[in-house]
Amino acid sequence: MSNDIWSVAELEQGKLKNISLQLASKAAQLAQASGGRATAIALGAGAQAAATALVGTGVAKVLYSDDSVYDTYLAQPATDALAELIRAEAPLAVLIPATNVGRDIAGRLAARLGLGIEYNVTAAEFVDGALAMVVPAFGGQLNVSVAFAGEGTKLILARQNAFQITRSDATATLVALPAPAAPAQGAKVSGPFGIEGITAEGHMSTEGGHAQYVPPPSRANVEEAAIIVSGGRGVGSAENFAMIDALAKALGGVVGASRPVTDDGWLPHRHHIGQTGRTVKPEVYIACGISGAIQHQAGMQTSRSIIAINKDKDAPIFTFSDLGIVGDLTVIVPELTRLVEARKTH
Ligand SMILES: Cc1cc2nc3c(=O)[nH]c(=O)nc-3n(C[C@H](O)[C@H](O)[C@H](O)COP(=O)(O)OP(=O)(O)OC[C@H]3O[C@@H](n4cnc5c(N)ncnc54)[C@H](O)[C@@H]3O)c2cc1C
Repeated sequence: MSNDIWSVAELEQGKLKNISLQLASKAAQLAQASGGRATAIALGAGAQAAATALVGTGVAKVLYSDDSVYDTYLAQPATDALAELIRAEAPLAVLIPATNVGRDIAGRLAARLGLGIEYNVTAAEFVDGALAMVVPAFGGQLNVSVAFAGEGTKLILARQNAFQITRSDATATLVALPAPAAPAQGAKVSGPFGIEGITAEGHMSTEGGHAQYVPPPSRANVEEAAIIVSGGRGVGSAENFAMIDALAKALGGVVGASRPVTDDGWLPHRHHIGQTGRTVKPEVYIACGISGAIQHQAGMQTSRSIIAINKDKDAPIFTFSDLGIVGDLTVIVPELTRLVEARKTH
């Protein structure tokens, strides 16, 4: 086994997701400690352009393929390619995004190659020559130190926004991977953008037997967002999420939610932020009608600025907000939207 550290990039519709740069940066840092080389791997449309951005993180090598076989949501083509590379080069560790796609691929790699895997990693360092990692437990109230037992390439599912992006002027080798052998595809995926009913604007849906507000895809990706307007149970109803979405739209942000909101079906699950949902790290997080439970805080506490709107002046969210507004969100949010829109026209 080599001392090399790899990172797997993730692309969405041809665009490199931030986590790819975070993991490439971490791989470069770990490789310095392990005495190996850092390699980033990008597969799918836009991978060649993404390779240039990955070089800037300090990795020594980028392997890429623009082949359209990787553009489907199906994990098999990427698993096939990565399994072959890992078998051939046996890196010390591979950092994989702990996203839906990354989990799918990592689980398959672990099973296929008989490798160990660690989930939800938020820190990784070499201590006395061994790779020591941290994973959160009990809603982020405990940080558990973990390490791999045994030999073999270590698969590390790293949590979004846990690692800083670093910049480096070092040069790197770019290697185009050969076209993959035609993979045996047992399934075909046509969505999500082929699904009927998804529009550029938010809309109400009654699919599943209950009322749900569905923000447009452009305001749904909380993990990559710089501005998040998030709503909790205090928003009051699925219909009222139209006002949260309107503020998100005015600010060029996306819509987030506390868990009860998605559990009750007011919004789709992909908006759920917190310990059991997504971890976010925007520049601005606006929490509307969210009490600030520890499990919610666990997913958004590293936001750069937190603004809370809550009618209860003693709500816990105010203890970790940079700016607090005490009042009724059904009055404040539309007014704020109006003011933002008015500013834009001047
Ligand atoms: C194992 C476990 C995992 C969990 N994981 C998560 C998780 O990942 N994410 C998560 O969010 N929660 C999670 N929870 C749930 C968490 O404990 C809280 O119950 C939840 O975060 C509360 O959501 P909320 O703040 O929207 O609702 P509430 O606690 O009911 O708060 C609603 C707030 O809205 C305010 N409000 C009401 N009306 C208005 C109004 N008109 N204007 C302004 N303010 C108003 C109220 O004052 C109140 O502060 C988890 C719980 C457990 C046990």
